[in-house]
Amino acid sequence: MSTIFSQIVEGEIPARVVYEDETTIAFLDANPLAPGHTLVIPKDEYERLNDVPDDVAEDLYATVHRLVPAVEESVDADASTVAFNNGEEAGQEVPHVHCHIVPRFESDGAGPIHAMFGGQEDIDDDRLDEIADEIESRA
Ligand code: AMP
Repeated sequence: MSTIFSQIVEGEIPARVVYEDETTIAFLDANPLAPGHTLVIPKDEYERLNDVPDDVAEDLYATVHRLVPAVEESVDADASTVAFNNGEEAGQEVPHVHCHIVPRFESDGAGPIHAMFGGQEDIDDDRLDEIADEIESRA
């Protein structure tokens, strides 16, 4: 069973496609959070960022890099929030990696991504050192 985004790639359902190359495609979000809200996806189906092969990840970033100024300029945005909901617990509803480019305006009142969390978590220095070591050893 292919994802709804694969159906867009295959042309089986309509979308407002704004860019396409061999490995990636970008189209307007059907439920925009702001005018110009765009999704960038790899054409092949990968559920999470962790699943995307290195070469496709490079292509995906290149398309995001290309689309951010195009989107901002097209709707005269002041800035943009660029984000992946990476996994169901992080709010990912469509199990096909996608990058949201959401144009931002001075008056939109949406705040930074930090606003999703109640506030800063209190983590002591020893634990921070431990976490940094764990990440470094896997990077
Ligand atoms: P997420 O919650 O990160 O998985 O976001 C999924 C996004 O896909 C939502 O913003 C939806 O509005 C959008 N979406 C779902 N179906 C379609 C569709 N057929 N065409 C364009 N965008 C879609």
